[in-house]
Amino acid sequence: MNNAVYNFPVPENESVLGYLKGSSERIALEKELTRQESTEVEIPLIIGGKEVRTGNTGKITMPHNHSHVLATYHKAGEKEVKMAIEAALSASRAWANTPWTIRASILLKAAELISKKYRSLVNASTMLGQSKNIYQSEIDAVCETIDFLKYNVSYAGKIYQFQPKSSFNQLNRMEFRPLEGFVFAVSPFNFTSIATNLNSAPVMMGNTTVWKPATTSILSNYYLMKIFMEAGLPAGVINFIPGQGSLIGKEVLASPGMAGIHFTGSNATFNNLWSQVSHNLTSYRSYPRLIGETGGKDFIFAHPSADPTELAANAIRGAFEYQGQKCSAASRMYIPESLWDETTSKMVEMAEEITTGDVKNPENFMNAVIDKKAFDSITAYIEYAKESPDAEIIAGGTYDDAKGWFIRPTIIVTTDPHFKTMEEEIFGPVLTLFRYRDSELDNAIELCDTTSPYGLTGAVFSRDRVAAARICNKLRYAAGNFYINDKPTGAIVGLQPFGGSRGSGTNDKAGGEFNLIRWVSPRTIKETFIPATDYKYPYME
Ligand code: NAD
Repeated sequence: MNNAVYNFPVPENESVLGYLKGSSERIALEKELTRQESTEVEIPLIIGGKEVRTGNTGKITMPHNHSHVLATYHKAGEKEVKMAIEAALSASRAWANTPWTIRASILLKAAELISKKYRSLVNASTMLGQSKNIYQSEIDAVCETIDFLKYNVSYAGKIYQFQPKSSFNQLNRMEFRPLEGFVFAVSPFNFTSIATNLNSAPVMMGNTTVWKPATTSILSNYYLMKIFMEAGLPAGVINFIPGQGSLIGKEVLASPGMAGIHFTGSNATFNNLWSQVSHNLTSYRSYPRLIGETGGKDFIFAHPSADPTELAANAIRGAFEYQGQKCSAASRMYIPESLWDETTSKMVEMAEEITTGDVKNPENFMNAVIDKKAFDSITAYIEYAKESPDAEIIAGGTYDDAKGWFIRPTIIVTTDPHFKTMEEEIFGPVLTLFRYRDSELDNAIELCDTTSPYGLTGAVFSRDRVAAARICNKLRYAAGNFYINDKPTGAIVGLQPFGGSRGSGTNDKAGGEFNLIRWVSPRTIKETFIPATDYKYPYME
């Protein structure tokens, strides 16, 4: 047996390829997009390494062309959920006892497969299934996915190296046990990389998972599952069970072996899972670890010294890339009166220039929102603003669902800092602006801090560095990821570990060792070399 002490170095982040016209990556991707568009895939459940078909099926369509079916997927029923739990529990001991370097090598191989052999496959399925353009897909489905896999390996090595001090007559050791049971991984539709991390972080630390993917991202998620298997993941370590969230959740959360939830999604869903856990609390073998990254109402705060062009460009990228369907997307903005006219006119000009359409046309900065439910919910906010005397729409405000779920980038101006669209997460291409008097800067900072229940991301733009530091300090709890002179989106694994507090989640920082540490239950082992032979202490003489 190889007993060397391994150390996986901090990796380099995966390079974002350019996809310039005529480049080899562009040609390969276009070929794969055509192939996937002309194929209808059948997606089974994968439980204990075996494909399971239930016959209870649903369709996966393209958001930007909703009559085009990409796949038929099988839905898990109660029986299959129980099978998945059983498979995860049966695989757990062997996986926990697998040397961590072997677990690492499987994840690193998956990263390598995605980087080379399956780059186009993963990108095309994310682009078509989740309506992402080339760049948005490349930074998520390929680069961030690879970064999560590689960094998690390196973090695991760091955690395993931590050992307590030993003293005279004793040897102290720390054993990093995986949790006792299985982890319930519940992933959102908007990032293929998050689906990877929700499974691979606990798996790296020796846990097994039951994975409930979001229905609208099943296509890319299914390919990920197959890549993990090709990389050598043993049967039962990850069990892929698409289906209805409430049915799967109820069954999984009733299992005494449910040792942790690794969740990313909406605040409402996480609250629901947490309540169910509280309800079932006495039935679990251990207190489950509850790790959830949820919604946001992310802000850009402009100081009077900010540059209007920088503000406008970053607001447009931050609010409208991937149709605003990022938990970190800028959705409210505070602009001083002195910068108002120049900033807003630039923003309107940029927003009106944006084209929205098919993912295959690289000129489209924006594509479709994910499904009808999202389309209806986002457009209801736009209609609300149109009707309100406290708001005015200065860009966009129109939408069209004839072919795909398309919504124009929309900018609302409100005179009420507590207007509905300043407070609630919309999760779409809608940005609301509030104008403050330069003389009321502190009041505006206070409003920014206290307006929404979330605390995920936020940005300050200021050329006055001292003012930026003061605002950063005042908004200490308003965002778990805070940006100075940058948009509040685009966190990179290893560089900006991600997560927020307040209503935005448990802030366990995906893409950092803080997250991985939640997937172990350390055991401290003290060994005494020469044990006591008398119960009395010398001072008693
Ligand atoms: P969602 O809450 O609707 O769904 C998330 C997952 O939960 C899906 O797989 C869904 O099927 C499942 N689910 C729903 N009800 C369930 C139940 N009762 N039991 C078990 N599973 C259940 O979220 P979404 O629409 O997929 O994603 C958008 C949300 O995710 C937004 O609120 C966004 O801000 C948030 N998000 C947060 C982060 C972050 O890091 N903070 C990152 C991405 C997305």
